[in-house]
Amino acid sequence: MPTDASVGARVAAIGAASFRRTLAAVERRTYEVRTFGCQMNVHDSERIAGLLEASGYVAAADGTTADVVVFNTCAVRENADNRLYGNLGYLVRTKAQHPGMQIAVGGCLAQKDQRTIVERAPWVDVVFGTHNIGSLPVLLERARVEQEAQVELLEALETFPSTLPTRRESAYRAWVSISVGCNNTCTFCIVPSLRGREKDRRPGEVLAEVAALVDDGVLEVTLLGQNVNSYGVEFGDREAFGKLLRACGEIDGLERVRFTSPHPRDFTDDVITAMAQTANVMPSLHMPLQSGSDRVLAAMRRSYRAEKYLGIIDRVREAMPDAAITTDIIVGFPGETEADFAQTLEVVERARFASAFTFQYSPRPGTPAASMPDQVPPEVVAERYQRLVAAVERSAWAGNQACLGTTVEVLVAEGEGRKDDATARLSGRARDNRLVHVAACDARPGDVVTAVVTYAAPHHLVADEVTGVRRTRGGDAWQSRRDAPTEPSGVLLGIPTVRA
Ligand code: SF4
Repeated sequence: MPTDASVGARVAAIGAASFRRTLAAVERRTYEVRTFGCQMNVHDSERIAGLLEASGYVAAADGTTADVVVFNTCAVRENADNRLYGNLGYLVRTKAQHPGMQIAVGGCLAQKDQRTIVERAPWVDVVFGTHNIGSLPVLLERARVEQEAQVELLEALETFPSTLPTRRESAYRAWVSISVGCNNTCTFCIVPSLRGREKDRRPGEVLAEVAALVDDGVLEVTLLGQNVNSYGVEFGDREAFGKLLRACGEIDGLERVRFTSPHPRDFTDDVITAMAQTANVMPSLHMPLQSGSDRVLAAMRRSYRAEKYLGIIDRVREAMPDAAITTDIIVGFPGETEADFAQTLEVVERARFASAFTFQYSPRPGTPAASMPDQVPPEVVAERYQRLVAAVERSAWAGNQACLGTTVEVLVAEGEGRKDDATARLSGRARDNRLVHVAACDARPGDVVTAVVTYAAPHHLVADEVTGVRRTRGGDAWQSRRDAPTEPSGVLLGIPTVRA
């Protein structure tokens, strides 16, 4: 067996990558990625999984303890910290019982807290940031070889995460990142300081990835960016996003295009027209409002006002009468008065949202809003929050009731219907992204079911009158993934021989 010194020399000689693959494949080290936060993190976690599998790791089976646990963290909410350190605390004993186990922390909280993480949790082996996801396998190996925690973060993007290997969650749906970072400076948000200024992928690169995904059996893509409407700002084309949507319309086999998150300030009419005139762009729009009060929007530095927001919604509905509009709303922003909140409720009424993510404001250290005067007392925030949820629920229910008796086309999805087994139904999303539970039929996840809506609840529809089942390439892709034998994706290279 070669000595430590010669192993080091060989590693240098044959290149860390194949050594990592050999080592991990031989040892079949398993991994688990725990994802917190937004879709951008879900997308990045698929890259983290893809990277580890390309380095010879295999996904840990459910219920087993993985050799490597990666936390892909979020920094948006106050309790994000507590949750991470709570999880890390819980893993101390597990790690003690599993020699060789490694813990890595990445994502926005890692980018924010950096070395503090290993100071507060010295049993963490690797800390990496939002700009250098690609370094994870090397850092894991360096931590193992040197028996020392590795903390490596960059202030600017190393490589676009989309260029890294991926292990996609779904066989028939995919996230496609078109930009990372954000040039806005909303006073409650920490994203720009953690993900940097906006960087745009070239349209050709995005479209090539979409076409490759469609070849793989993907039916639906969601274009992803912190602010998709300003896409193209980096290469000087203000209409790049509308053009990208139209170009997606040219890709054969791509049935559904969605996008998140748009920003009302940059939401231009060419995007509305592109949505309406491109058949595979879905009639659903998630556009964060945050507040209905112009005074609060100004304090949030959102650069639009309520009337502009409602004007966009009106023009979207003119162009696509069946469009479902959803949003994000923060209640209890510093300085928010009862009158401000009443304006938010009024906009909710007029916008007729299909649903909304509603948040009680909590100060995020490091954001301007956290040190603003007139922080609203938590009990006042909680009371307003209840009224906001009730208003959104009324609007959502009214919208769903208007769907009764209509025919919907549902892309069947895995894991969308918690009660499916009990109710013998399948679940998925309609074209306008409403959640629909359909009567059981011979459809697989990825297939498309056409059915008549027979019941409307505040947050979902039931369509028990199935009028058609279309088996799709997406369903085939799901089937072949499900039936594929689980093989470690690492290539067994055997002990490398060094050529003189
Ligand atoms: S648009 Fe505002 S809220 Fe959204 S990521 Fe950028 S700074 Fe944050």
